Amino acid sequence: MNKVGEFYAPGKIIFGPGGLSQVGAEAKRLGSKALVVLGRSAMRKSGTLGRLIHLLIENNLEYTIYENIPSDPTIETVDTGTSLARKENCNLVIALGGGSVLDTGKAISAMVTNKGSLADYQEIEGKGRKFQHKPIPFIAIPTTSGTGSEATKNAVITNTEFRLKKSIRDPWLIPKVALVDPELILSLPPHITADCGGDALTQCIESYLGKKSQEITDALALHAIGLIGKSLVKAVKEGKNLEARKDMAMAALLSGLCLSNSGLGAVHALSHPLGVFYKIPHGLSCAVLLPYVMEYNLPVVTKRLAKIAECLGENISLLSETEAAQRAVDKVKEILSQAGIKSNLSEWEIKKEDFSQLIKGAKGGSLNNNPRDTSNEDLIELLYKMTGLY
Ligand SMILES: [Zn+2]
Repeated sequence: MNKVGEFYAPGKIIFGPGGLSQVGAEAKRLGSKALVVLGRSAMRKSGTLGRLIHLLIENNLEYTIYENIPSDPTIETVDTGTSLARKENCNLVIALGGGSVLDTGKAISAMVTNKGSLADYQEIEGKGRKFQHKPIPFIAIPTTSGTGSEATKNAVITNTEFRLKKSIRDPWLIPKVALVDPELILSLPPHITADCGGDALTQCIESYLGKKSQEITDALALHAIGLIGKSLVKAVKEGKNLEARKDMAMAALLSGLCLSNSGLGAVHALSHPLGVFYKIPHGLSCAVLLPYVMEYNLPVVTKRLAKIAECLGENISLLSETEAAQRAVDKVKEILSQAGIKSNLSEWEIKKEDFSQLIKGAKGGSLNNNPRDTSNEDLIELLYKMTGLY
């Protein structure tokens, strides 16, 4: 195939246990006053925030805190943070938290230098402005291993007016520094570890199978899939296992590089409206949906699925290509089930009456990148299976 690929990555990636200690020097290099964006209280308990602030002060940086970012940040969340950053003359944004916090920080860093509301830049109903000015520098410090937001040009923000969760994409949004310290992830509870790991796995698989897949992200995706196969269940069951946490943090980072450059697929397309309508955590819906979509895609990406089976440690030498591809689906189901992920979304009581709205919300870039095209009937069929309404 003669596709032209493009690959963007953060200006600098710092990875490893104890990496947080470099935040002061990095911040000093990039600005003088930081807006520190945080989620709800978790980080405070573990003392990480205290360490971060100490490192900023030690490097003579000023800071302002913008906290309590919700798990589904909205346009208002970003606009309020932007006003605060402007009022306080911040010339740098540091976000410490999960994907929602990082996406919020990222969007604020762009809105500080661009006019209007973030809503003006979302692609909804054919509209959506491009950023005119470079964002202020942004340092992303993840405390979960999932979205890979620390490495992406995407910020997923909910637009409550249109009841849509939409990704804003721009290479300018890629963090200047992605600081990934696996020690910060040691206290993540098992169910969130499982959901986030399921998200990272989905991101790698969707970008590897997608229409825009390219050689650089293929290599990263396959490596990350292997790491997840090796360490997701361990990270869920033995939270303090630094080796397993390191593997998952690396896999999540790589999954971000993959999705940001090669796109996603039908799992993510359907997960966004499920998040808006039923508040299902993003990672969880991705993890549950993943095997169904892999099975749906199997006829058109058989060879690639067989490769995934191999990366997950399966011996496929005696199997036909189709059998090997099916083995990938089965192995993914097994790993997710061992991590505690349910096999469908029945407990969320998704209603048939909402299907047409869910499908409407699923349309867009991710769905277009799915290797096998989907008609509305196909999506209805998938929703029936995933929701347990069959
Ligand atoms: Zn995701």
